Amino acid sequence: MACPLARPNPERGRSPVGRLPFEVWVGRRYRCAMIYLDNNATTMVAPEAAEAMVRFATELYGNPSVAYRFSRPVREAIAGARAEVAALIGAEPDEIAFTGCGTEANNAAIFSALRTQPGKRHLVTSAVEHSAIKRCCEQHAPQGVETTYLPVDPAGRIDLADLDKAIRPGETALVSLMWANNETGVLSPVEEAAALCREKGVLFHSDAIQAAGKIPIDVAAAGIPMLSISGHKFHAPKGVGALYVSKNIPFQPLLVGGGQEGGRRSGTENVPGIAALGIAAKLMRERLAAPTRDAVRALRDRFENALLDRVEGAEVNGHPEHRLPTTANLHFPGAEAQGMLILLDEKGICCSSGSACSTGNPKPSAVMTAMGYPAKRAKSSLRFSFSRYNTDEEIGAAVEAVAAGVKKLRALSGYVG
Ligand code: PLP
Repeated sequence: MACPLARPNPERGRSPVGRLPFEVWVGRRYRCAMIYLDNNATTMVAPEAAEAMVRFATELYGNPSVAYRFSRPVREAIAGARAEVAALIGAEPDEIAFTGCGTEANNAAIFSALRTQPGKRHLVTSAVEHSAIKRCCEQHAPQGVETTYLPVDPAGRIDLADLDKAIRPGETALVSLMWANNETGVLSPVEEAAALCREKGVLFHSDAIQAAGKIPIDVAAAGIPMLSISGHKFHAPKGVGALYVSKNIPFQPLLVGGGQEGGRRSGTENVPGIAALGIAAKLMRERLAAPTRDAVRALRDRFENALLDRVEGAEVNGHPEHRLPTTANLHFPGAEAQGMLILLDEKGICCSSGSACSTGNPKPSAVMTAMGYPAKRAKSSLRFSFSRYNTDEEIGAAVEAVAAGVKKLRALSGYVG
């Protein structure tokens, strides 16, 4: 096997799920020590959350909308999860509607803003948003909806003066800005933008899918009317998200039907996913309040500083301070990301060259391009994203592998710094 860390699998034939979270099967005979540094793409489901999923898929499988006693604990689990998700972002439980993913929550926010304000046909967002916002804005163009994409500076941040100029009172239906960028981790000035929108009487939404659970969020204190989250970015499973909508604003649902979620999102609830989301939200809230809350930042900093030290010419992409404590996007001149990804994959290291959704796209990252980086820089940059499940030992091994990979590719390409 290509993987140097692979070792014979003594438990051949037995499922690794749940017991070997940091090892990956390579072929049928080996398992490889895997170092997962792609937590912005998705995260491992927390064991406590996985346990809840299994329970609500097998034992407590009643339909929450049915009145008999069998469904009572199911309804209670949904109510408990709603309270936990609300507590994670400083909302009231009845301001949370569960959705099928973060993309749905983003789409629902834009759709509702346009439907509840039919006279307003203008949207404002930024040039570095996720495609779940950008494509949704574009989708409305044939209906006469115009979108302004705010530029970002080389550190990846918008200028509030540009937002001020872009808002058209009486015409702008929604301003939507991501809390944290998925590729660079750069934070938008969300609280200030929300205040500006409030002053101008314009509805505001934040795609907080990369931020929730990683940094404190308080929608009530910041006066944010709408916000999206996604479970699989913070140790809940894929296929469950939530849209927060302040009770003070009108809402029109994207999905209509049985009227679940207080009419805000029809469709029988994904109870195993929702129960797990509630548990993950609780774990992340406790973690953010604990004295050890900076542990992931310390791992990220150790990783980043070691590589900046060892790899000549290496640079951080994005604002050095205004970014998630869990993301490192690094430029390694002379080492193409596609080659690096192959070398690192052989060593069992998972990371990416851009967003998970753009894997296989040969074009340079739209985020890096919007930051004004040349294609060459964008194509020799890698994103590493960390979680509470990473260890010091993994960081040391990953630093060695990345430094060796850069050295190898530079030698092959004849790079002179
Ligand atoms: N918004 C951002 C910033 C993201 O990073 C992602 C996923 O990568 C999404 C939206 C889409 O979320 P989901 O995968 O839950 O649909």
